[in-house]
Amino acid sequence: MPGRGATDLGFSEPLIFDRGAPGRCGASLPESDVPAVDAQAAFGAQFRGVAPELPEVSEPEVFRHYVRLSGQNFAIDKGMYPLGSCTMKYNPKVNEWAARLDGFAGLHPCAPEEDSQGALELMFRLERALAEICGMDAVSLHPAAGAQGELAGLMMICAYHGDQGRSPKKVLIPDTAHGTNSASCALNGLETVSFPMGENGIVDPAALAPLVTEDVAAIMLTNPNTVGLFETHLPQVAEMVHAKGGLVYGDGANLNAIMGKARPGDLGIDVMQFNLHKTFTTPHGGGGPGCGPVAYRAHLDPFAPVPVVVRDGDGVYRLDRDRPKTVGRLRSFQGNFGMMVRAYSYIRELGPEGLRQVSELAVLNANYLRARLGELWNVPFDQTCMHEVVINDRHLKETGVTTLDVSKRLIDYGFHPPTMYFPLVVKGAMLVEPTETETRQSLDAFVDAMDAIQEEAKTNSEHVKTAPHHTRLGRLDETRAARQPVLRWQPSNTPMEQ
Ligand SMILES: *Cc1c(COP(=O)(O)O)cnc(C)c1O
Repeated sequence: MPGRGATDLGFSEPLIFDRGAPGRCGASLPESDVPAVDAQAAFGAQFRGVAPELPEVSEPEVFRHYVRLSGQNFAIDKGMYPLGSCTMKYNPKVNEWAARLDGFAGLHPCAPEEDSQGALELMFRLERALAEICGMDAVSLHPAAGAQGELAGLMMICAYHGDQGRSPKKVLIPDTAHGTNSASCALNGLETVSFPMGENGIVDPAALAPLVTEDVAAIMLTNPNTVGLFETHLPQVAEMVHAKGGLVYGDGANLNAIMGKARPGDLGIDVMQFNLHKTFTTPHGGGGPGCGPVAYRAHLDPFAPVPVVVRDGDGVYRLDRDRPKTVGRLRSFQGNFGMMVRAYSYIRELGPEGLRQVSELAVLNANYLRARLGELWNVPFDQTCMHEVVINDRHLKETGVTTLDVSKRLIDYGFHPPTMYFPLVVKGAMLVEPTETETRQSLDAFVDAMDAIQEEAKTNSEHVKTAPHHTRLGRLDETRAARQPVLRWQPSNTPMEQ
């Protein structure tokens, strides 16, 4: 196999910044026919003066650059992406068609309400659909991510207590929780009280009881939780917390397991976030625009973020900003509207029956993997799971091969690795979430790859420990990449070849 970064013929691919030549151009604009302005005078100190030293490239060069980069990346459109907790499910292309419709994509966020009726109606309908799915009274589409939805929900909880002249500061969080839960507490000046999950992987109400006191502002629970198990005692736990004046925050990131089956609002949750990029097939990450709506019961309504979309008696939609007890504005304009169009398209494409089937298939696929992987791998909670299953590297101890090595080697087999070393409570965890869109064949191929890797670990561990072998880059210095990222191209810091 050719070396990294080399073509089949053995020579290196040129990088974009080594391409191009002075004066080469990818655009064909006419000569300017308006008088030149004195930019220095017009923009003052903001005027750059010296042009940035960007590479000068032709259109095909730019195109090849980005297509080549996209080919080096892994994507759900290329293969199975069982990254637990992240729900990397297929994003139906009809969503993209809808989001690109001129009336949506071309609408200016400052357009007057009377010219934005269609967009406001879509937001209103999406809010109603999400409220129905989770059994809550209302939804705000404002937050830009799941984590910001958590932040918003906790802000509403603080405002609710404050409105009653109380200021409890403690938030109970199980040790299986996602890191964003405690971060959202910290941003609200709340104190996190971590408690261990019960022996069978779920919250044990008896063990929790002594912690539920009157200075508890809320409990934050993820259901199903991050080891893939349904919190069967949730209603009882909610009752305990409510009895002491606290509220229940539901981390809704794992909704893909229970849609159409169980509604968080019916289980005693007061406020929760959705992660549209997980459950409702809007694109993930890349630092791009996101949407993490927050859903709440009626007693939290006065504190909801503004603006709120309302439908007046005459069927006209408008944005209500006049809400004295609101926690305020979290985002510019109305949030990331394009994501709302995609999620709404998905919900309408599937309908109630389809959404229920999504959860059924997600759970079926995860249990299929649990059973098949369980033949050779260690499954710490070997009971019927929800949409994801935890395995670990325990049986590879003698070989010196770890979860990290297995994950890297999986890339060579054409699979994105599962989530590693999370949840923290399982040593060497791999959190595997296949999602509903994988076929039996792709699930089997994944198990075959995992089994082949554990065989390699026993017979040729060095090969696993030095993986990946088939990617452009090998193991990165992840600490340096995080601490000293090179985010801007400058003539002096190319090439980035390793
Ligand atoms: C993904 C996730 C979050 C955070 O959501 P983002 O949209 O990534 O900000 C919170 N909790 C759990 C359990 C998650 O899986």
